[in-house]
Amino acid sequence: MKSKSQSIRLVGSGLSGPLLAIELVKRGFEVEIFERRPDMRRVGMSAGRSINLALSARGIHALTQAGLWNQMQRIIVPMKGRMIHSLASGITFQPYSRNVSDVINSISRAELNIALMNAAEARGVKINFQMRYTGMNLQAGKLQLYDEAADKADSVDAGVVIGCDGSASAIRRDMLTHNRFNFSQQHLDYGYKELTIPAGPGGKHLLDPQGLHIWPRGNHMLIALPNTDGTFACILFLPFEGRDSFAQLLNAEEVGEFFRSRFPDVVPLMPELVDNFHANPVGSMVTIKCSPWHFEDKALLLGDSAHAIVPFFGQGINCGFEDCTVLMELLDLHGPDWRLVFREFENARRVNTDAIADMAVENFIEMRDRVGDARFLFRKKVELALHEKYPKNFVPKYSMVTFLRVPYATAMRRGQIQDRILTDLCEDIDRVDDLDWSRAEVLVTGQLTPLDFS
Ligand SMILES: Cc1cc2nc3c(=O)[nH]c(=O)nc-3n(C[C@H](O)[C@H](O)[C@H](O)COP(=O)(O)OP(=O)(O)OC[C@H]3O[C@@H](n4cnc5c(N)ncnc54)[C@H](O)[C@@H]3O)c2cc1C
Repeated sequence: MKSKSQSIRLVGSGLSGPLLAIELVKRGFEVEIFERRPDMRRVGMSAGRSINLALSARGIHALTQAGLWNQMQRIIVPMKGRMIHSLASGITFQPYSRNVSDVINSISRAELNIALMNAAEARGVKINFQMRYTGMNLQAGKLQLYDEAADKADSVDAGVVIGCDGSASAIRRDMLTHNRFNFSQQHLDYGYKELTIPAGPGGKHLLDPQGLHIWPRGNHMLIALPNTDGTFACILFLPFEGRDSFAQLLNAEEVGEFFRSRFPDVVPLMPELVDNFHANPVGSMVTIKCSPWHFEDKALLLGDSAHAIVPFFGQGINCGFEDCTVLMELLDLHGPDWRLVFREFENARRVNTDAIADMAVENFIEMRDRVGDARFLFRKKVELALHEKYPKNFVPKYSMVTFLRVPYATAMRRGQIQDRILTDLCEDIDRVDDLDWSRAEVLVTGQLTPLDFS
């Protein structure tokens, strides 16, 4: 086993890098981060690149373990459910859970990133900005970097390297050249664009800040998440090409007409809509699966670099933070036997990250097509009734993923069983009062063991 004073190099000071650094420093390691971007605390961020995130149980647990959750309270806005906006501008509230304390927390990516970097530096982590990873020389044990400010190549002793460098990971790209490295990437045909609803008079929110607002419109969708300063960060999801696509919205008239006809209640709230639309870039969304996540005892991928997912379950960073929790549990168990820790980490995580990747794509379809559908809403009512009667056996998939830390693969498997039970019980009815409770008893208790929440 190697000594704990060994240095660990992290590549990427996005969201998972600084949190991981904090946990490693706590365990006595020397940690240094190399980040290709300039320090966002000193340099303004480019427009349209600071989407909001929904933080939930897994992320909160990891931040609590790191002693950071309390200080996040001032930058989060709790959301209790979905606020669905119909085309006729009616709003329906769908609570996330029967338990009122089950909320998801809207947080600005930039504010979270800054809070994490401040906390990491306060604990002795050195963050080197504008230092881009360009490769690893394993024979010489060197990490190769490019110093963007000085415009020259550099290198440092590699030690143990952990790639927290996001979905377009350069470390993963290097691993691709290794023998028997498996890799798949699946892009959605949809892109996203960030837009803003400014604060109203007196810094007040112009929509109810207690919910995640959704305008589901079949093949496209708008969502809005509240910020603490009274604004809403909105994300428009549209196909890249074809009907109702980004490719069709090229000038002010087309953008204005599209929003007036699809999201009429939003237009008066977005005076800068057209300027925002043209200024902000269109992002793409990808699912990445790969294996192995490590190279011997030298390098590991963690967070989006190992398993990027589409954003429709709001789990990307919750999952990345849960990676940190699991990696630390294994490190505490085995000590810095990196080869073993890295292997066990992937064994514990990959089945679960594959599951959340698949569930995130399924949730895209649910949010886009079904949240406004009468039959879907009826199934949700029956789901709630079953959960009330069997609170430990029948737990909605959304709750298992979002409010509990049930392994993602378990949540997916139980969710599939529950879906089949719902289809069976809802088949010939359209009122919860007509539910066949004796059949429900057989199906639920026969197929679903009580879930251990502790
Ligand atoms: C539209 C959208 C909405 C989302 N909503 C949610 C949500 O509601 N909830 C949620 O949990 N997740 C959400 N996510 C996912 C979340 O943003 C990601 O899962 C998360 O940012 C991944 O964290 P990370 O640390 O792995 O990577 P990142 O946060 O992407 O950080 C990677 C860092 O590595 C740096 N880097 C890259 N290459 C190099 C290099 N060669 N050298 C040095 N540094 C490098 C980058 O500059 C960056 O700072 C969303 C994502 C999108 C796109």
